[in-house]
Amino acid sequence: MDWIDLRSDTVTRPTAPMREAMARAEVGDDVYGEDPTVNALQQRLADELGFAAGLFVPSGTQSNLLALMAHCGRGDEYLIGMDAHAYKYEGGGAAVLGSIQPQPIVHAIDGTLPLDAVERAIKPIDPHYARTTLLCLENTWHGRPLPPDYLRNARAPCDREGLRLHLDGARMYNAAVAQGVSPREVARHFDSVSVCLSKGLGAPVGSVLLGTAALIDTARRWRKVTGGGMRQAGILAAGCLHALDHHVERLAEDHARAARLAEALAGLEGLEVLGQHTNMVFVALPPGRVDALKAHMEAARVRLVFGPLGAVRLVLHLDVDDAGLARVIEAFAAFFTSTEVASRPPAPKP
Ligand SMILES: *Cc1c(COP(=O)(O)O)cnc(C)c1O
Repeated sequence: MDWIDLRSDTVTRPTAPMREAMARAEVGDDVYGEDPTVNALQQRLADELGFAAGLFVPSGTQSNLLALMAHCGRGDEYLIGMDAHAYKYEGGGAAVLGSIQPQPIVHAIDGTLPLDAVERAIKPIDPHYARTTLLCLENTWHGRPLPPDYLRNARAPCDREGLRLHLDGARMYNAAVAQGVSPREVARHFDSVSVCLSKGLGAPVGSVLLGTAALIDTARRWRKVTGGGMRQAGILAAGCLHALDHHVERLAEDHARAARLAEALAGLEGLEVLGQHTNMVFVALPPGRVDALKAHMEAARVRLVFGPLGAVRLVLHLDVDDAGLARVIEAFAAFFTSTEVASRPPAPKP
């Protein structure tokens, strides 16, 4: 039996047609700017998202780092959510490599950063303070698309205070598909956007940073400095182009399967469905049952990642079809019905 891996949408493997497209790719030396497939990918995303230029990079982490280093100089500061990927999960790269100070801000429940808190966090221009240069948002946020009104409103304090606005849009195509808007609409209020092709879109490797020609020139320099200059990278870019051609609309299937999974799990006694947004379902397990569920799911060949306090994030993606979804639901149902009945205390005597 094949494993079904719900840990993340990064686990997808390239499809046979994607591998064929990669094998056929025309290539050149991208450090010299001569790889036609990389150039085509960068141009295509720049056109699609409404930017002057793009830069192909190995990872979303590097894409965000290059954006931060291109927007901010030594002693500058960026405002970002305290649980945001580009603050919390990227090894402190902006501080380590860019001498850029983060100013974390507490998220609202929907992943937005309250704009009054953003305004309060902007430092006066004075030698006591780091220079506040950039506001960084993340969309989707734990699967949630940020509200379009919020994106528009976030621009106002940036314009007023001379900040730039960066989007960590690792999963922004999920947001666009879920909201029924063009990806360009999701990107339009930002000075730079980072997109991952290696998550729900299903390419094996690659992210693209979009921005002005000047910003991308600076980012290209930092890409080389941080060791991200790749040579015949067109083989990878071809997988990304294939993903953009064939795997965008189908994100709606992942969202629909996530909704079906959430509904099925909500009907089980013994676990709590905390929410479902785009391709993610969040559930909470009662303390004390995590190890048993782990073993049960291993035996059913379903791979899960367990967070703290019995929280589990289930992520739907290209490699989970209807049959896979049915197997996951069955495995959960078998665990919660059998053990729930067995462990239920006897009814009190009247
Ligand atoms: C995955 C992810 C990244 C980083 O991508 P890597 O390619 O894993 O470095 C950045 N931001 C968000 C929101 C992500 O989910």
